[in-house]
Amino acid sequence: MARRDPVLVIGLGRFGKALAGELVSLGHEVLGVDTDPRIVQSAMDQLTHVVQADATDAEALRQIGAADFPTGVIAIGTDVQASILATYALVDVGVRKIWAKAITSAHGAILERVGAHRVVFPERDMGVRVAHTLGGRTLDYLELDETFALIETTVPNGMAGKTLEQAGVRKRHGVSVVCVKRPGGRFDYATPDTLINEGDVLVIAGERRRAEDFAALE
Ligand code: ADP
Repeated sequence: MARRDPVLVIGLGRFGKALAGELVSLGHEVLGVDTDPRIVQSAMDQLTHVVQADATDAEALRQIGAADFPTGVIAIGTDVQASILATYALVDVGVRKIWAKAITSAHGAILERVGAHRVVFPERDMGVRVAHTLGGRTLDYLELDETFALIETTVPNGMAGKTLEQAGVRKRHGVSVVCVKRPGGRFDYATPDTLINEGDVLVIAGERRRAEDFAALE
């Protein structure tokens, strides 16, 4: 998505409102749409353009100028029927790039069939991330696909005071350290000569199993 492309955000619940607000702060023009007048009213402080409309109605979408938006996000989750019909209405109106939020895999599969180009599962993904951060040294976890993961973690005891090369992070553990943050400092790119100490935070990338094993080291 080119920077500042206008984005249509359908449904201003918790997910839609957070998404729309962040897009505005990134410099996008955002039009928020919701059926609930109270939600529309409260979103007006945060978003420049908010309209009350039923997004399942393609004609109503045309009237608010939806066809001029290259990108639309359907952020309706709870009401599965509305989410499906709104996705279909956006396809009908001719929005080129449609992203949609789904609650379950079946919901996601239907949205793809109907024409969503990308489906996101915020609740499911957050559940996975939280599960990984509950125990051990993992601070954050991002599954890139079924095989690869990016993990934010602390330094295993045996590696403190060594460079990444000496610690054999790549050779022995098969993971790549992307960047390192000193206590109170900022992230900096890692090289084989980067010295790691107790209290540092590492972001590692690697095959899921190996990255998880690395984050589980004592
Ligand atoms: P979250 O879990 O992120 O809060 P919800 O699914 O609960 O998401 O909220 C979705 C939002 O979408 C609600 O504010 C609701 O009023 C709005 N919404 C539901 N149906 C439509 C529709 N047909 N057109 C536009 N907005 C809708």
